Amino acid sequence: MSAVITRDVLTRWVIRGAHCTTAPEVESAEHARYLLSAHAGHGGCTQFLGALAYGSEAGT
Ligand SMILES: [Zn+2]
Repeated sequence: MSAVITRDVLTRWVIRGAHCTTAPEVESAEHARYLLSAHAGHGGCTQFLGALAYGSEAGT
């Protein structure tokens, strides 16, 4: 799987991931990793937990 993230994709992730109380629609493992890093300091917000759940379901 390619790990290349275009500016358009990143912009979409930033916009859709901006609100910590919204459950994320995780698109890929790269997206999950982005959300985990972006929300790492938030004490387990909804975005962080959603990305975490994606990672455990994908087995990575
Ligand atoms: Zn957050």
